[in-house]
Amino acid sequence: MLAIVHSRASIGVSAPDVTVEVHLSGGLPALSIVGLPETGVRESKDRVRSALLNAGFEFPARRITINLAPADLPKEGGRFDLPIALGILAASGQIPAESLKGLEFMGELSLDGALRPLKGVLPAVLAAREAGRSLLIPQDNTEEAALASNNDVLAASHILTVCEHLTGKAKLVPVARPEATAGQSSSMNALADLSDVRGQQVPRRALEVAAAGGHNLLFFGPPGTGKSMLASRLPGILPALDDAAAMEVASVHSVAGHPLKPGGWRQPPFRSPHHTASAVALVGGGSSPRPGEISLAHRGVLFLDELPEFERRVLEVLREPMESGEIAISRAARQVTFPAKFQVVAAMNPCPCGYSGHPNIECRCSPAQVMRYRSKISGPLLDRFDLHVEVPVQAGDVLLGRSEPGESSAVVRARVLNARARQTERGCLNASLAGKGLDEACRLDAGSEKLLASAMERLGLSARALHRILRVARTLADLEGQDNLARHHLMEALGYRQLDRQEGQGSLISA
Ligand SMILES: [Zn+2]
Repeated sequence: MLAIVHSRASIGVSAPDVTVEVHLSGGLPALSIVGLPETGVRESKDRVRSALLNAGFEFPARRITINLAPADLPKEGGRFDLPIALGILAASGQIPAESLKGLEFMGELSLDGALRPLKGVLPAVLAAREAGRSLLIPQDNTEEAALASNNDVLAASHILTVCEHLTGKAKLVPVARPEATAGQSSSMNALADLSDVRGQQVPRRALEVAAAGGHNLLFFGPPGTGKSMLASRLPGILPALDDAAAMEVASVHSVAGHPLKPGGWRQPPFRSPHHTASAVALVGGGSSPRPGEISLAHRGVLFLDELPEFERRVLEVLREPMESGEIAISRAARQVTFPAKFQVVAAMNPCPCGYSGHPNIECRCSPAQVMRYRSKISGPLLDRFDLHVEVPVQAGDVLLGRSEPGESSAVVRARVLNARARQTERGCLNASLAGKGLDEACRLDAGSEKLLASAMERLGLSARALHRILRVARTLADLEGQDNLARHHLMEALGYRQLDRQEGQGSLISA
């Protein structure tokens, strides 16, 4: 007797097909599993046997051979318990074999037959649909699977419930997609609002520019001036994610074991790892590779507070994905790639004590200490930030809330959307402009050329810095709906290179 059950493995954010074949034959009672790693086999055998017996089924006293194909896929965890158990039941005639057709199954069994939740259910839902089959998952994974459900996801909490469905005794109702994710309505208004930030006109403007052109942004200034508060408002002024991007985000979160809540659908993610985070926590890894913070920030914002406090080695591993938009993790013979298209907002104090340039509090740091602090951020990393902007100490009346509230996120987002539409027509976000595309999008008249050349000489800017200035100037023109770069766009863009100008002066900001 042979039974075949379909299931899914989990590699990166993909869910390749795994076929579980169960064969019963004469001979001494024994159970052997081919295609699972040794420890996985032992544990799975025990769980499947107990679950079947405790659920009142018969465990066949035959020779049972189980093959998980293809053999070369990594198959960790107990996700194949349920398909193995169902294969045994079908092969021994306890459930009809044809009832398994058109379905796929995933789930770890507890000893009493209950189904335990898994990581990475969402990609499996999508892959099963692609194969023209419905997927049956543990009840506790319902919320995340529902994000992708198209009346082709079933959920059960116990193997008995699964069997009642298969025998037609009590049919399961397909999981419904939550309303919040069905239409075009977005949940963007649930995000922290920019109107909470009072004063800080220049940093607010820089945040809008960063959102409009996809630029990485570095805020510096004394503690308590609102750098984190500003950064956390960036997702709320970005465009809402489209369905495909939202599904990518939900899939990464599913694989990481941090499933997305339906209320977070279409919101660009915001991740703020602590500066003590390890390289693995940041970029991903582990024996069966899991996504790190940069992939959880995919299509959204990675906020690095206290940037110089991060281990330098950890920061350096960020450089490559910041350019490529993905991260490849190698384990044994296998390479796994996770998406990692994220925008960085970083924040730092101007010096170790934090008060360099403060109007009222004296800085206690020596020039050497300040240099050392700043040199923790390498030139190549600093070079990936198009905008360096000071977040200064504010006047007392602003702090006391006597100033007008700022514009709301919705108002700013509308301008960002217009600027982005112009970039979409050109083909890419301004932050990604390079080579010929950069030249074409950023033509200068003779006067602007001259202005830029003299500014570069005076400030000692590199050619790379020049490109960054042009990209930002392009975004400023797009925010105004202008086709040509004008002098005031260049002047404003130059103003957002505040760390370049302090090169070698031993202090980040002029007092
Ligand atoms: Zn200091």
